[in-house]
Amino acid sequence: MANNTRTIDDHVGELLSGYIDGELTQQQRQRVEIHCGNCPQCDSELDDLRVLREQVGKSRLSELGEDIWREQMDDTTVKLTRGIGWLMFIGGILIIAGYGIYEFVIDTSMGLGVKLLFAAIYGGLGALFISVLRQRLIERKSDKYKDVEI
Ligand SMILES: [Zn+2]
Repeated sequence: MANNTRTIDDHVGELLSGYIDGELTQQQRQRVEIHCGNCPQCDSELDDLRVLREQVGKSRLSELGEDIWREQMDDTTVKLTRGIGWLMFIGGILIIAGYGIYEFVIDTSMGLGVKLLFAAIYGGLGALFISVLRQRLIERKSDKYKDVEI
């Protein structure tokens, strides 16, 4: 009887979090298990700790999931908008150039000098566009190379 009283008085509060985390020795684990079987106070404390740990673990997991999701979303959005941007830009220029060339070819009111002038302007624009595009492709390639090197 005296031994039983001593077991209940000697609470295991400081061992409970180690017990949940699995950091205790076999002897300590047994002490916690036996004590909680006899002491409702420590038993409910153990339950509270378990619920708390579970909630913390869950919120950490969902936060982590949200971060990954947000990162991937951002990455995809950036790639997609960049792709759409380039597509619209190139598409728009091709349509304008096509329309310009069409108008240019069927227009009979223009003199040869004016036609040559417009041809020079269109040719110049085209050359500029190609050189900008080429520059970007080279930059992208060297970026990839840098990534690999790091
Ligand atoms: Zn106790």
